Amino acid sequence: MKLFFYASLLLITGNLYAQQAEIIITNGKISTLNRAQPEVQAVAIANHKVLKTGTNEVILRLKGKNTQVINANGRRVIPGLFDSHLHVIRGGRFYNTELRWDGVTTLKRALQMLREQAQRTPAGQWVRVVGGWNEYQFAEKRLPTLEEINEATGNVPTFILYLYGKAWLNKAGIERLNITGDTPNPPQGLIQKDTQGNPTGLLVAEPNAFILYSTLAKLPTLSKAEEINSTLQYMTELNRLGVTAVMDAGGGFQNFPDDYSITDALNKEGKITVRLPYFLFAQKKGAELNDYTKWIGMVNLEAYDHNSVDYHVEGGGENLVADGADFENFLFPRPELPATMEPNLKAVISLLVKNKWPFRLHATYNESISRFLNVIEAVNKETPLNGLVWFFDHAETVSEENLQRIKALGGGIALQHRMAYQGESFIQRYGTKPALASPPVKRILELGIPTGLGTDGTRVASYNPWIALYWITSGKTIGGTQVMAKENTLDRATALQLFTYGGYNLIKASGKGKIQPGYAADMVVLDQDYFAVEEEKIKSITSVMTIVDGKVVYAADAYKNVGPAPIDVIPSWSPVKYFGGYQSK
Ligand SMILES: [Zn+2]
Repeated sequence: MKLFFYASLLLITGNLYAQQAEIIITNGKISTLNRAQPEVQAVAIANHKVLKTGTNEVILRLKGKNTQVINANGRRVIPGLFDSHLHVIRGGRFYNTELRWDGVTTLKRALQMLREQAQRTPAGQWVRVVGGWNEYQFAEKRLPTLEEINEATGNVPTFILYLYGKAWLNKAGIERLNITGDTPNPPQGLIQKDTQGNPTGLLVAEPNAFILYSTLAKLPTLSKAEEINSTLQYMTELNRLGVTAVMDAGGGFQNFPDDYSITDALNKEGKITVRLPYFLFAQKKGAELNDYTKWIGMVNLEAYDHNSVDYHVEGGGENLVADGADFENFLFPRPELPATMEPNLKAVISLLVKNKWPFRLHATYNESISRFLNVIEAVNKETPLNGLVWFFDHAETVSEENLQRIKALGGGIALQHRMAYQGESFIQRYGTKPALASPPVKRILELGIPTGLGTDGTRVASYNPWIALYWITSGKTIGGTQVMAKENTLDRATALQLFTYGGYNLIKASGKGKIQPGYAADMVVLDQDYFAVEEEKIKSITSVMTIVDGKVVYAADAYKNVGPAPIDVIPSWSPVKYFGGYQSK
């Protein structure tokens, strides 16, 4: 009798004191990616984590007087998207200066946006379109001409970047940068000159992209306050697209620690709205070993608040040594890496492995990958990797033999949708057959190699994750060209896995990327059902509510009132204020 009394008391108090939810989402089509419970109706969130998943009835039992109950009205809910390769920290610093042609469907509209932006751009500032688009997305299926660009922008200096292949300066831009007939071409770059020897405005990466990002780096930057606003706007833009985490891959002219002061400050204020492990990218040719030695001395990889949004140095890369940069411009032949690459790369990787620093390595071509693997295997002989996190980025043309070598070394692969933007150029240079399995997505998964999916935004491709999910499930470019064989594409669930917990597998991080009790509460309520919409519609999916670490960081439409109020865009002439970012609709 006494025992029964205590048991029922425990039950009552247990229920009374069972943790109550802070947020409950009901009436959803919730894809958990948890094999034990793949789809549920409702989820409860408390203390940054998923508390429970199940039916409305079961989950509503966790409702307390302060619980926010949000009705998903039958919408699809997925774990938050983790872009495992994006240049978000650099992208954020410049986002408010950039007119985005991402998702624009006609050249006519693109030029109209250019004209409008030129009219509102103040003296001293530029109009800039910085990658993330190509001519095949336009109904006209062609590039703008210099005449059209000059006609639209007049005397407002303008720079338009086409992936990492070429760029156009209008006349006012040539003048402002003082480029003349005597200006020499940088290595593996071309400043096109007309018959009189005057610069036309066309800059070409042949295939070295240094000419492009060094020119871009000459354009004016924003003020500190504007850079902070720009970074917040860009993160909100990513949240609008369902992104809750990003692995930052560094990038040219992204110097550590100076160019991290904005995100450092925002992190201290708890204002970062995406999880953000980042990698340090070697900037100066010949100084790479010194820089990594210095950075290893400055950073304790473990000393960060694991319960925050994980803003921290994760390791080295994607560029470890300048000699290893095999530029992915398929308009030009594959670059041959210099013989100095191996000794330089070996010195850096040895240092990183000795200090247990994870590393990632940009590698487009199989020929580069073979040589990189020679180096990693040599280092492994001297200083065993012992399960250290390392992976290749891109690997579009990796061979079966090299996949076996990567697997043997415990390496991973971070894939991105670059072929969605360069598929046509790749086919023109190498033919349709080699493109069918570039990259060999299915084979990589068959071998059980840890794999993440991302965008490589914001320049060589757009930062829109739905383009990547469209590309890897359809095999098509943004222009609609079938570039990958259907047999090499993935079903939607597997593709989503790569763009959620796949990224965490890459860096061996647990407890994130699924909607499962005890996991971090990162999830997205979608405006369209990813698992039901027709293929072409995948590209236009966005979020109506995005939750990171148990907090609503973005909400729109019917959910507007549960989310943070939008912040005004500064400066007042910013194209983001008038056009936003990716043109989803
Ligand atoms: Zn890269």
